[in-house]
Amino acid sequence: MADYIYTLEIRLTPDQQRAVTLVQDVARAAGMNVYLTGGAVRDIISGFTIRDLDFTVQGNALKLQKELERGGAATQSVDDDQKALHLTLPGNVRAEISMARTERYEKAGKPPVVTPGTILEDLRRRDFTVNAMALSLNPGSRGLLMDPFNGAADIEAKLIRILHNYAFVEDPARLIRASRFAARFHWPLEERTQARFDSAKENKYIEYITNKAIGYEIEQLAYEEDPLHIVRVLEKEGWLNLLSPHWTTAKMDTASLSQLMKTRQQMSEFGYNPDPAPAVLYFLTARLNDKEISDIQRLIPRKDLVEAWRDLEDNAKQLAKKLTGKEAATPSRTWKLLSESRPEMILFLEVTARQQAVVHKIRNFFGKWRQLQQKLPLPEMAELHITPLLPEYPKIVQDAFMLLLDGRLRSRTEILKFLKPLAPPPPPPPPPPPPKRGRAAKAAAAAEAAAVTGGHDTGQKKGKGAAAKAPAAEAPAKTEVKAAPKPAKHNSPSKVSKMAGKSKSKNKKRR
Ligand code: ATP
Repeated sequence: MADYIYTLEIRLTPDQQRAVTLVQDVARAAGMNVYLTGGAVRDIISGFTIRDLDFTVQGNALKLQKELERGGAATQSVDDDQKALHLTLPGNVRAEISMARTERYEKAGKPPVVTPGTILEDLRRRDFTVNAMALSLNPGSRGLLMDPFNGAADIEAKLIRILHNYAFVEDPARLIRASRFAARFHWPLEERTQARFDSAKENKYIEYITNKAIGYEIEQLAYEEDPLHIVRVLEKEGWLNLLSPHWTTAKMDTASLSQLMKTRQQMSEFGYNPDPAPAVLYFLTARLNDKEISDIQRLIPRKDLVEAWRDLEDNAKQLAKKLTGKEAATPSRTWKLLSESRPEMILFLEVTARQQAVVHKIRNFFGKWRQLQQKLPLPEMAELHITPLLPEYPKIVQDAFMLLLDGRLRSRTEILKFLKPLAPPPPPPPPPPPPKRGRAAKAAAAAEAAAVTGGHDTGQKKGKGAAAKAPAAEAPAKTEVKAAPKPAKHNSPSKVSKMAGKSKSKNKKRR
């Protein structure tokens, strides 16, 4: 068995790592074995983006709900049949925690009979080999990969392979999943899997898909990196109108969807990571009627996603109103307003806004205004000891930036004039070296005594050797203190903002 502990650590984001620790600790405290399973393991090994985390515990996962919530998890839905929790963990990490189970399909189109099982049994009920692996999170075996169907080899070969011949008959949702994964990774279906896929398609097994699976598959579309590509493939396969009867790509706002993904990418370059999922669903269903949309919304298991989708238009309208009102009357106020707004709203508004003023302000926020920060004279600021080591540094920089934004500081000279009074006093001189102890001190004392008996006592304690160096070392320090210029008045953070205000009024006067 391979050890993936290192891969696990380097491939997860810090938030995902914290999520793993939380689930692992809660499961451990409850005495349950816990594994990372499904797509997360596949993505860790293949190097694709890890979108969400699936955990499997040996025991009833629902029993962990309270403790997980105490650790900051928000429960999005509870599946009592499969004993699974859909959660949002701190840092906005999507996670599912389910009980290791066996599934027995007795009739096509009917949900399977579920019984608690071992982790190996649980891997056996999964859809494709690349999704049927588990990474242990248990003490003693943490990081060990369980791969009974050789999924790692299929990742290497870039193939989607079912676990057995009845995979598509048992659960026709796997047909849609096969198309979705093949489209996402650009991996073909393995030969026999393709043959089973074609035969299942011909026999119209898809008609047996459950509403629950439809809702789940629609939800998954919202989280795809390239949703447009995926829905085009689903349409070609004939799956799209199964998810919703009148759904076609013609009913989507494909131009806005492309714009959305492009803008999202640009925002991430500035350190903003909005969740595009609600907006993706908004554009994917742009031309469906209200009933069709509410039918889809009813089927989606994640209620927070549906709520965010429903609220998009209203929230965007509110933000647009603020951006054209008093709250955004100056560039600095606009900056503040946008900095405090949810990135999801900025993303959606940037794509949908029709008012030029709104579009302009958002573009400035990510473009021109941001570049003004580079006008701060960092070398001169370092000379003035205005550096990140100063507790009030962020406030000083922020105040200067706001003045720059509003055009109240324009030239380098004006910026320095604003900054100089905010400079801290020069650093104190280094402390004198501590007096020597032990042998060296004894030797020095002896030397001093010899000097005294030698008749050179001037009334001052002078001498050669190590001990005599201590006062000598102090001397330059003393002179340095004396010679130092009067410390400049050090401004407290509250003064800093007053200064910014003062400078504002001075500038006003000047103009
Ligand atoms: P991603 O989240 O990246 O789309 P994923 O593989 O994690 O991919 P999920 O839909 O989150 O997909 O499902 C988690 C895991 O549950 C899958 O990896 C798979 O092992 C299993 N699974 C999901 N749906 C089915 C299904 N219809 N039949 C069998 N196993 C399934």
